[in-house]
Amino acid sequence: MNKRLAIVEDDPDVRAILQRSLSADGYGITALADGEHLEELLTNDPVDLVIMDVGLPGIDGLSLMRRIRQTHDVGIIIVSGRCDLTDRVVGLELGADDYVTKPFETREILARVRSVLRRNSRGNAAALPTVQSRRHTLCFDGFELDLLSRTLTNSEGKQILLTSGEYKLIEVFVKHANRVLSRDQLLDLIYDSDAPAFDRSIDVRIGRVRKKLDDDPRNPRLIKTVRNDGYIFVGKVTAAGG
Ligand code: CA
Repeated sequence: MNKRLAIVEDDPDVRAILQRSLSADGYGITALADGEHLEELLTNDPVDLVIMDVGLPGIDGLSLMRRIRQTHDVGIIIVSGRCDLTDRVVGLELGADDYVTKPFETREILARVRSVLRRNSRGNAAALPTVQSRRHTLCFDGFELDLLSRTLTNSEGKQILLTSGEYKLIEVFVKHANRVLSRDQLLDLIYDSDAPAFDRSIDVRIGRVRKKLDDDPRNPRLIKTVRNDGYIFVGKVTAAGG
């Protein structure tokens, strides 16, 4: 089945290049010149991945992304100017899966698209019957992590909205509680055998996950930073049900 992508880019030349190279690679493309109708599209006719320019007329890319992240679990790659480091960092903090800087080579964008789609495709399994899933629930610090539906619920029973990347990171930490994990080990565990050659987003992703777990980055109670070594998850983990 062909994956479907949305491109949000106001520059008609860049939009045309993206559209051409990505459809040549077999993706179904919807191209938009601004973010006005993106939410509508995601609701009515979902896509697998959004490639989004940061500098857009009307609602800017980062505000748009912040909004989408609250309602849709879709892969997002942001496109920014070479010098807009702040945009990229803020973009990753808000939940972008990756970024590309302009001017880019189509080869680069194709590789990033494939890698984000591959990572995210493992996160879309629908919830399986609850009888079985009870045995696949891990509890820590009042949270419940369901390994089958890949969901996280807090002590009030409220589901915490996670991107598939954030879910995977929490799962890795919980399954390896009380062990120091280096950034390399974390990347290996997160991506299985699909580890990218490098990944610039692990620290920002940990920042986002701490936020979702209400973990204070200056004095974390769950995910602690180990100087020069990486991170350690120190929550007490128990299996529930079953
Ligand atoms: Ca632009």
